[in-house]
Amino acid sequence: MIVMKNVYKKYPNGVVAANGINIEIDRGEFVYVVGPSGAGKSTFIKMMYREERPTSGEILINGINLATLRNKRVPQLRRQIGVVFQDFKLLPKLNVYENVAFALEVIEAPPAEIRKKVNDVLALVGLTQKARMFPNELSGGEEQRVSIARSIVNVPKVVIADEPTGNLDPETSWEIMRIFEQINARGTTIVMATHNREIVNAIKHRVIAIEGGLITRDEYGGEYYEG
Ligand code: ADP
Ligand code: ADP
Repeated sequence: MIVMKNVYKKYPNGVVAANGINIEIDRGEFVYVVGPSGAGKSTFIKMMYREERPTSGEILINGINLATLRNKRVPQLRRQIGVVFQDFKLLPKLNVYENVAFALEVIEAPPAEIRKKVNDVLALVGLTQKARMFPNELSGGEEQRVSIARSIVNVPKVVIADEPTGNLDPETSWEIMRIFEQINARGTTIVMATHNREIVNAIKHRVIAIEGGLITRDEYGGEYYEG
């Protein structure tokens, strides 16, 4: 489902953020990506949805080769991948419902289908009652739930999350994790960069540790530990 072969990434300033990464992630897996700041976690994740391109090497997502993918095909790729960010990235002038519907309106889905899908995912994340509220009227946890709803409304095979609990208090972080667990239980692959030691050690999944642009550890049911 996700394959990286000899992936190397050097930024224009000379920093090498991926120094020969090889990885295979299967359908339905839940993977934590851990490592110190500056290790290359975000770069690793950004290359999966073509926010960054590798300098060399090969990346396959659902059989799509990101190295040779034309730019005009990137929107098609992004429809197969849901992305969740630490800072939510909601559209401030759209309400909760509209933020989630937006991705479906862009692809001109039929209005009845949009209504059904949006209402279904809002129910899944527990936000049915807040559909008409705007991002600035929500708590951080609620904003993140909107962003998760938006990421799954297209029923992607993969959800990629970059520190999704990084701005949330511990209790809210556990709630957000419960939602990711539910999404994973439905068969969606999850790749999540995180610094949350408690969560990684409590909800056991595969742990990929990155340091200096290299995978230094890759364990099923692994622990967080660093260094
Ligand atoms: P992490 O997510 O583990 O903190 P990043 O992937 O963000 O690591 O960064 C890895 C390295 O690449 C760091 O040294 C960082 O400063 C550098 N880096 C990240 N993005 C860029 C960029 N756009 N341009 C130049 N250097 C970058
Ligand atoms: P139905 O056609 O089943 O009556 P609607 O399309 O009117 O359903 O809306 C279903 C739900 O979706 C309602 O609870 C409504 O609050 C919500 N909804 C629909 N459009 C919007 C919107 N633009 N902003 C907020 N909520 C919306």
